[in-house]
Amino acid sequence: MKLLFIFTPVGAFGSGIGGGVELTVQNIAKELIRRSHTVHLAASVGSTSTEIPTISILGELHSFAQDQYRTDPVSFPDNSVLANLWEYALQVQHSYDLIVNFAYDWLPFYLTPFFQTPIAHFVSMGSLLNNMDRLVHKVSQTHKGTIGVYSKAQAYTFGEAVDFRILSSGIDLDLYEFQPSSQSQLAWVARIAPEKGLEDAAAVSEALQIPIQVMGKMQDRAYWQRIQAEYPQAQLNYLGFLPTVKLQELLGECQSLLMTPKWEEAFGNVAIEALACGVPVIGYARGGIIEIIRHQETGFLVEPDNIESLCDSVKLVPKLHRASCRRQAEREFSLSALGDRFETWFQSIIG
Ligand code: UDP
Repeated sequence: MKLLFIFTPVGAFGSGIGGGVELTVQNIAKELIRRSHTVHLAASVGSTSTEIPTISILGELHSFAQDQYRTDPVSFPDNSVLANLWEYALQVQHSYDLIVNFAYDWLPFYLTPFFQTPIAHFVSMGSLLNNMDRLVHKVSQTHKGTIGVYSKAQAYTFGEAVDFRILSSGIDLDLYEFQPSSQSQLAWVARIAPEKGLEDAAAVSEALQIPIQVMGKMQDRAYWQRIQAEYPQAQLNYLGFLPTVKLQELLGECQSLLMTPKWEEAFGNVAIEALACGVPVIGYARGGIIEIIRHQETGFLVEPDNIESLCDSVKLVPKLHRASCRRQAEREFSLSALGDRFETWFQSIIG
């Protein structure tokens, strides 16, 4: 297959600003290229990849859907990179069998019937905007089987009637080393942004007086500073946005990973990265996390927003077997399993 991947217009590929979908794009492309398919990636200028041939497109970045109100109208910055990406796709469409949209944006859905080359849409977020929902529903009816999501919980946020492919996620397990033992510290790995709920991890650190290694893109500095002020006794050790090789090394040294999202997490790639290192995950029973963690086996699912339950689970984590975590990652989230799911999906759309 000849595939053109179109990345999100919120930031450059490789910058971390796109969140987990960046890792997903990287891993799908890597596995499909290994299977002798052609994959090209069109992304905003500044994008870098050692593995995927990348076409840089100029233009202004878009704001995050999660920072908008549900009823906001569709808006575009002047010289929008999203518009430029899709103008490029329109020009080169006949060189590809399939175009794959990785942006949670109105324009690619709107354009779908006007393209001659089929478009697959991989939606990496739960429902956030009414104007998106309307188009997602429409395209799911007119172009059946062309919309993919990470998890059932994510699909459910769009309502029951929508026909989605549930594709889960996967990682290159060779890049993640199993660490059989840990130090007395926890990990919290995500973009530093309100929807990720870092304040609840800070509350746990303060209550149990345990250090937390914080890794991730500093998306909202004011939010970070507010947490510092509100939880002065919390031991949050911010390490920055780390490359996978370093991320897995430091994550592997932790007793568990805390996942405390305030939104319906579509999936949570960091959960499978933790499992691959042998690190159990303590997460809110909210969104895609529910479909990853095996309660009391590879982590704990706790009542959302309940700090006491988080603290209780932290105390119980030493009873879990770290080897079970690695085994689950190997069984369910390998690169080849991911490749099988996406290859089959793409082939079904190309027909
Ligand atoms: N990540 C990273 N380095 C860091 C922290 C995070 O590369 O220091 C990556 C991590 O591997 C994951 C992504 O950032 O792929 C976060 O994705 P997730 O699906 O957990 O959440 P999202 O940001 O998409 O909501």
